[in-house]
Amino acid sequence: MTSFITEITAPDGHKVSLNTGLFINNEFVAGAHTIDTINPATGEVITSVQAAEAEQVNLAVDAAHKAFYGGWKTSNPRERARLMRKLADLVERDAEDLVHLESMDNGKPLSNSRMMDPVGFVEHLQYYAGFCDKLHGKVIETKGKLSYTVHEPIGVCGGIIPWNVPMMMLAWKIAPAVCTGNTVVVKTSELTPLSALKIAELVKEAGFPPGVINIITGYGPKAGEALSRHMKVSKIAFTGSLATGRAIMKAAAETNLKKVTLELGGKSPSIIFDDVESVDEVVFWAHMGIFFNAGQACCAGTRLYVQEGIYDTFVEKFKALTLSKKVGDPFAADTFQGPQISETQFKRVMNYIDIGKKEGATCYLGGERIGSQGYFIEPTIFTDVGADMTIMKEEIFGPVVVISKFKDIDDVIAKANDTTYGLAAGVFTSNISRAVKVSNALEAGTIWVNHYYSASAAEPFGGYKQSGIGRECGEYALSNYTQVKAVKINI
Ligand code: NAD
Repeated sequence: MTSFITEITAPDGHKVSLNTGLFINNEFVAGAHTIDTINPATGEVITSVQAAEAEQVNLAVDAAHKAFYGGWKTSNPRERARLMRKLADLVERDAEDLVHLESMDNGKPLSNSRMMDPVGFVEHLQYYAGFCDKLHGKVIETKGKLSYTVHEPIGVCGGIIPWNVPMMMLAWKIAPAVCTGNTVVVKTSELTPLSALKIAELVKEAGFPPGVINIITGYGPKAGEALSRHMKVSKIAFTGSLATGRAIMKAAAETNLKKVTLELGGKSPSIIFDDVESVDEVVFWAHMGIFFNAGQACCAGTRLYVQEGIYDTFVEKFKALTLSKKVGDPFAADTFQGPQISETQFKRVMNYIDIGKKEGATCYLGGERIGSQGYFIEPTIFTDVGADMTIMKEEIFGPVVVISKFKDIDDVIAKANDTTYGLAAGVFTSNISRAVKVSNALEAGTIWVNHYYSASAAEPFGGYKQSGIGRECGEYALSNYTQVKAVKINI
């Protein structure tokens, strides 16, 4: 059998052995072709991985289908929990390998990856392991009948994930699915397959039966579409762009009406009232909210609305903090912001910056490329941005923020909700009733009050409006992966 094992050396000398085959039925197998994966900090090829097309997607789905009916569906919940906890332990053990792969492949600072990626993966696996034996039905008494409900798994679940937080997205697609007795085929982004492939090795080592968890990569219109059109896939959980989300819903509608949950984009507002206790603290959160992960976050706080009393102070302090943060080598200890993920994404963001300038907004800070190698962009602040300007309306998915002034609460709620998206929002105020009033009025799935970006496996995440359908994380996600059966006994 061909071996796809390679050794990858990170810029700091850390070496990782990696199997670059498609992980199907607990084996690493050949794809239809290969994809080079690029280090966005250098533009250089890290390695090449096997990539799936329809034929390999069929193999993966068949393996998952066989595993589902061959025992996983009716497996002992405690055994599922044991395997999930074992996988979490192995991820903890190999965390350094994983963070090195993630930083090279995605460009995020190594320190960020250490802080959130394996930690988040482990948290989700452990959280959902706890639910394996807690999927209780109900007893319902009606006249002459005793009925009970059972929560059953759906079958083969497809997961399609983006490149911005690859390990976390993988955990979101695997953990609630396998805990409820489903089997999965997850397609990683073609841009960031490496950490998922390392985790595939750990899935096998943990002892999951063949076919329960399959991890493949491949291009969206080939592997992704084949998965979302597959007649044996009963559910697709997708995280990515609005355009792809629409394509996946259409594919589901045109084939077997598979259940679809979508986590899509955003244009999240943060509202900063002039009664905040500390402007410095708000500046910290607002800065983190937009520039963390080089602005490549679905829930990034891209629109800042600052009340007129503190507007000038805020903008000045925001600029100073932004200038104090280092943009550059993801492996340098003091780097805050790495590169954009790819040349395409880099050009897309630069194009938005150009459009902003052409439409008459003020580019108050940044707006230029940094260096000539890799895909680095200066953190960019726009002011004087009209409500109808492109950079106020469209998701940029880069280190670009717009800051606007507002007068009063009604004015700012209308502005904040003036978007087709509804993923998240921030509210900063020392007045608790104002915080609650504004949180209630905002049309978004997550509202952060006096901070930004907190997340845990226990809290639901998802979008209002065109930011998505359904919720991931927390016990809410369990309903995405189970169907309820009513058994009615004639007494
Ligand atoms: P994308 O939609 O281009 O790609 C996402 C995934 O879909 C990739 O694996 C890709 O290969 C696949 N894909 C592409 N075309 C497909 C098709 N026709 N059929 C099936 N699969 C297909 O998105 P991206 O550029 O990787 O990620 C950025 C987007 O993801 C942003 O809009 C961002 O807001 C969103 N996002 C949302 C969340 C959330 O939780 N709401 C989290 C992260 C990213």
